[in-house]
Amino acid sequence: MIQTADRLRKLPPYLFAEIDRKKREVRARGVDVIDLGIGDPDLPTPPHIVRALQAAAEKSEHHRYPSYEGMLAFREAVADWYRRRFGVTLDPETEVLTLIGSKEGTAHMPLAFVNPGEIVLVPDPGYPVYSAGTWFAGGECFFMPLRRHNGFLPDLGAIPADVARRAKLMYLNYPNNPTAAVASPAFFRDVVEFARRNDVIVCHDAMYSELRFDDYLPPSFLATPGAREVGVEFHSLSKTYSMTGWRLGFCVGNPDAVGGLGKIKTNVDSGAFQAIQEAGVAALTGPQDVPERYRTTYQERRDIVVQGLRTLGWEVDVPRATFFVWAPVPTGGDSRAFATRLLEEAGVVVTPGVGFGPSGEGFYRVALTLGADRIAEAMERLQKLAW
Ligand SMILES: *Cc1c(COP(=O)(O)O)cnc(C)c1O
Repeated sequence: MIQTADRLRKLPPYLFAEIDRKKREVRARGVDVIDLGIGDPDLPTPPHIVRALQAAAEKSEHHRYPSYEGMLAFREAVADWYRRRFGVTLDPETEVLTLIGSKEGTAHMPLAFVNPGEIVLVPDPGYPVYSAGTWFAGGECFFMPLRRHNGFLPDLGAIPADVARRAKLMYLNYPNNPTAAVASPAFFRDVVEFARRNDVIVCHDAMYSELRFDDYLPPSFLATPGAREVGVEFHSLSKTYSMTGWRLGFCVGNPDAVGGLGKIKTNVDSGAFQAIQEAGVAALTGPQDVPERYRTTYQERRDIVVQGLRTLGWEVDVPRATFFVWAPVPTGGDSRAFATRLLEEAGVVVTPGVGFGPSGEGFYRVALTLGADRIAEAMERLQKLAW
């Protein structure tokens, strides 16, 4: 009998398994299911980036092992992009590390900095990789509830003093998955102050900073005074350039934090395919008209969802970024029962908030990763049900 290690048993049950099973059942009944559960862009990678990969793949120098920390050309492109977009100056040699997608980097951070029994501050609801990475390193999670009345920001003052003292890392993610909340520079200033006082390394997952709407521009944590002494920011090309399958991301910020993560990576992987990094340079430095058009596309879809839910008399906050809409369950309470009803009676998949952590209960998430016509049809189906 093969026995897994305790750390695998520590992972919570996969809460979406039930929805996945029901989705298959409903499909098997011949229902045309509209799946608004998928956090993966449906829009293709812009063609000039694909062409850059094609050309780079021909070069035999890229067929060998890449450098561990990433090609300097890619890291320079990242530093240039940070300067242009956020006014943040980074040393590409010591403050930028190439990742095989940002998920890999966020998951590996605790291995570099957390000793068994030390605490990691993790948002609830949140991207599950933060807690999994913590447990794999033998750390303990202290979950920071994200509440609507607080704009889905953690209440730093509510973290008990002894927990704060024992905490080694803090994960944050704004614009946020799943709540679509955004953070202000003032909140980031409080985070820097908290991190300084308690000697905590801040890991800010800024994945959705470019999926922004109207004239809102999400700030970088690293633009906060003092942030570079206490933390790093994670980013990738996955969502901005519709490149989830390519696996290319980066970690930037404090050189000791970046260096520690790099040391783990040197021992577990051998870097990102260089042809993909060349394509990444094309993405970051090339024309930005396609991502701009994609933003407009997501914004149109967002408006269809917001209007559709409001027509039903359901409460919803208008997201300023991300490709998610997060809203309170209109019938109150049980998000799984609500999601099941939408699936069974309307053939529409939404994600129950509790799947992202206990504080997500009472909410559901709609992903804007299908065409406007499908999203509009989903809204029409909801309007036909008796509520
Ligand atoms: C999609 C997503 C990621 C994963 O990014 P990759 O660069 O594709 O690994 C990380 N964090 C959040 C919050 C996400 O939603």
